[in-house]
Amino acid sequence: MNDSKHTIKTQLMKNQDSQNVQLKAQFNRLLNNAHENQHKLKRFEEIEFKLMAAESIEQLLYIIRDEYTSLFKQDACTLLLEDEDLSLRRLIPESIRDAETDRFLTLLNFPVELEKLKYLPTQITTGVYNIARHQWLMDNPRIESIAVMPLIRRGKKIGVFCCGSYDRCRFQVHAASDFLQRLSFIMAVCIENALNLERLKLSTMTDDLTKVHNRRFFDQRLPEELARSNRSMTAVSCLFLDIDHFKSVNDTYGHGVGDNVLCQVAQRIQTVLRTHDVLARYGGEEFAVLLPETDNDEAMMIAQRIIIAVNKNRVVIDKNVVLTITISAGVSTLMTENDINDIKALGKNLLSTADQALYDAKKQGRDRAINAGLLALTERVECPQTS
Ligand code: GH3
Ligand code: MG
Ligand code: MG
Repeated sequence: MNDSKHTIKTQLMKNQDSQNVQLKAQFNRLLNNAHENQHKLKRFEEIEFKLMAAESIEQLLYIIRDEYTSLFKQDACTLLLEDEDLSLRRLIPESIRDAETDRFLTLLNFPVELEKLKYLPTQITTGVYNIARHQWLMDNPRIESIAVMPLIRRGKKIGVFCCGSYDRCRFQVHAASDFLQRLSFIMAVCIENALNLERLKLSTMTDDLTKVHNRRFFDQRLPEELARSNRSMTAVSCLFLDIDHFKSVNDTYGHGVGDNVLCQVAQRIQTVLRTHDVLARYGGEEFAVLLPETDNDEAMMIAQRIIIAVNKNRVVIDKNVVLTITISAGVSTLMTENDINDIKALGKNLLSTADQALYDAKKQGRDRAINAGLLALTERVECPQTS
């Protein structure tokens, strides 16, 4: 009797021991999970703080592309943003949206792409990479699994962020976590805020009437462009343009017609220019153009093309008012070979030299371009004020 009691007692203790071991293992697993999640949360928080602290869209996109990728050891990341009205192309610097060198950022504009974005699930999806389904999101043959995170603001998809892995098991089906959900929400808010900030910045740099850049923007870009051309040892040219006898348009037809002419002339000038050229309305009926990587001969050719673009076809206001408008131009070029010590002064000098040539064009009968040639760097001229 005593023996059997002892056996039962021993058995009970054994059971308890094994239960204890199981409980301990379970506890350890939970503890490990909690540690892992805490560690993950810390990393997510780290990246979220960085996203929120980004001071420009460029900085924000670099954080997403570089810091997120390395912090979470992602094999590939892509970001696709809706750009139906092509406005993002003006807001996001070329350096980060250069599709040739970097497949990170895509601005969606084609109807078929916008349609695909529209029908993407609103929830995060994870799973095995499927070329038919995922190629438009991430075109990389090495990717085995993918997480697709739609970026939603006020019920509308503003884009989609994708992470890809060479490991088939990294993003398993239904592996979407609360962390990713939170990250995609914060990313969407940060991208929208950063873009709105860029829009605001741009609006203070845009001429209300003609929608080309304003003088503030030009004056800011001029030294930047000169510094760049100095670094790359390339020529940079400047055009100063002024509509001929514009006062008589106002006097004859009124200010409304004058405003219309200004807008149409700005558009015609823009058609001649390349995307990296900078056109600004510098004053009333004056425009300044900065031509990076453009030597003096090319700059003269561009000035001639502008003159033709303005005077070739008459400007139609309505069926009763059709005007012939002409414009005059002054051209100057800077070819830097040495270090420049006062970029700002040099910029002013380049512009005022073009302005002086414009004055000569007016004197010589208007509707023409006069070339001031290369700026002499050795005999540094004191900078007169531009008009
Ligand atoms: P020139 O060929 O010598 O340049 O003669 P101009 O008549 O073009 O030059 P002037 O400087 O005598 O006149 C410029 C006119 O541009 C005077 C001004 O009322 C007008 N103007 C300046 N800003 C605006 C604007 O925003 N809208 C309109 N409609 N007119 C403007
Ligand atoms: Mg003028
Ligand atoms: Mg004028």
